[in-house]
Amino acid sequence: MKPVLDVFKKMFPKGARLHEPFFGGKEAEYVQECIATGWVSSVGKFVDRFESDLAGIFQLKSAVAIVNGTSALHISLKALGVEAGDEVLVPALTFVAPANAIAHTGAVPHFVDCEARTLGVDAAKLDAWLGEIGEIRKDGCFNRKTGRRIKALVTVHVFGHPVDLEAVARVCGTHRLELIEDAAEALGTLYKEKPVGRWGRLTTLSFNGNKTVTTGGGGAVLTDDEALGKRIKHLTTTAKVAHPWRFDHDEIGYNYRMPNLNAALGCAQLEQLPEFLRKKRKLAERYETEFAPVEGLRFFKEPDFAKSNYWLNVLILEKNRAAELENLLRVTNEAGYMTRPAWTLLSDLPMFRQSPKMDLSCARDIVQRLINIPSSVFL
Ligand SMILES: *Cc1c(COP(=O)(O)O)cnc(C)c1O
Repeated sequence: MKPVLDVFKKMFPKGARLHEPFFGGKEAEYVQECIATGWVSSVGKFVDRFESDLAGIFQLKSAVAIVNGTSALHISLKALGVEAGDEVLVPALTFVAPANAIAHTGAVPHFVDCEARTLGVDAAKLDAWLGEIGEIRKDGCFNRKTGRRIKALVTVHVFGHPVDLEAVARVCGTHRLELIEDAAEALGTLYKEKPVGRWGRLTTLSFNGNKTVTTGGGGAVLTDDEALGKRIKHLTTTAKVAHPWRFDHDEIGYNYRMPNLNAALGCAQLEQLPEFLRKKRKLAERYETEFAPVEGLRFFKEPDFAKSNYWLNVLILEKNRAAELENLLRVTNEAGYMTRPAWTLLSDLPMFRQSPKMDLSCARDIVQRLINIPSSVFL
C-alpha cells in the first residue's frame, strides 16, 4: 500500500488532517458583533438570519436552528410522533448519533443494510425485508417478529453522498413510514439537481467542527411544512407561549436552541458555502486522478444521480485486499496523514446488539474495506 502514501506525500508534503474547519470570511467580525451588542445567547439576529439562509439554500419553507445534530434528530422523531416502544429503521453503517436519538425517545433502532452504489439505505432490500416482517394495520406498520410498531426511517446521506431518495421515499410510502433525512454530512449535496432534504418530512443537519460548515457545535431541522416547523421551534424553546412578560409553557419542552454566538459563526460560514463546495469537489477530482493508477483500490465516486459535496473522501479496497486495511491505516497515520476506517457497525455496539436488524451483508463487507482520507476544504 505504499502507492497510497506516495499519493498523499505528493499532494500534501506537510501532512494532512481528516477534516479541519476553515475560517476565511467574516467569522470574527460577526462573533465580535454578538459580544459588543450583548446578544450572545439564544435569541438574536444571527439566529434568525442563519435560519432563513438555511431555508434558502434548501429551498424549503422553514429551518429551525438547534444546539446540535443529535438534538435535531431527537426533536424530529418526537415531532413525528415516535413513542417509547416503537421501532425506527436506521442504517447500520453510519455515525452513532441517529441511533442514540432514536434510543432517547424510548424507541428501538432497527438496523438496515446499505447499497454499494451510495453507501446509504438499499431501498429494494429494505422493501423486501418489510414485505417479509411488516404488517400494515390501521395505526401503521408493525413488525410481526417483535410486535412493535415501525414508525419511521431515518435515512443518512453517508459521507455526503445522497441515497436514492425517490426509491427510499417510495418504500416509506408503501409501508406507511415517516421519513427523516439525516443530511448532517450532505449540506450542499444535490439529488437529481435539487438539494437533498425535500423527500423526508423533516431533514436534519449538524454544524459540528468536522462538518462542511461549522458553528462550533450546532444543528438544524428543515421542513417544507410550515406548521411542523413552528411546532419544532416551540418544542425546542421550552414550549413557551409567546407573551411580553409571562412565563407560560403549554407542554414539556426542550432547551435545544442554538445560541446567537454560534449562529454568527454559521452565517459567516454559509457565505462561503459555494466556494467550499467548489474546493471540495476539486479535491475529489484530484484524488480521482491520482488514485486511478493505484492498484487494489478505487476512489469512491458520487452516484450518477447526484452532485455530492464530497464531505469525507473515501477509498474502497478490492475484496481480496481487505486484510491490508489495518496496515494502510497505520502507515498513513504514522506518516502524518490522518485516515480513518468506517464506523463500527451500530448493530455491533454493546448497547444495540439486541436490536432488530435485517441481513447486513453489504454493510459488513464495506466496513472491512473502506477508508476515509483527508478532506478539509483548504487542502
Ligand atoms: C455529525 C452527525 C450527526 C450529528 O452530530 P452532532 O455532533 O450531534 O451535531 C448526525 N448524523 C450524522 C450522520 C452525522 O455525521
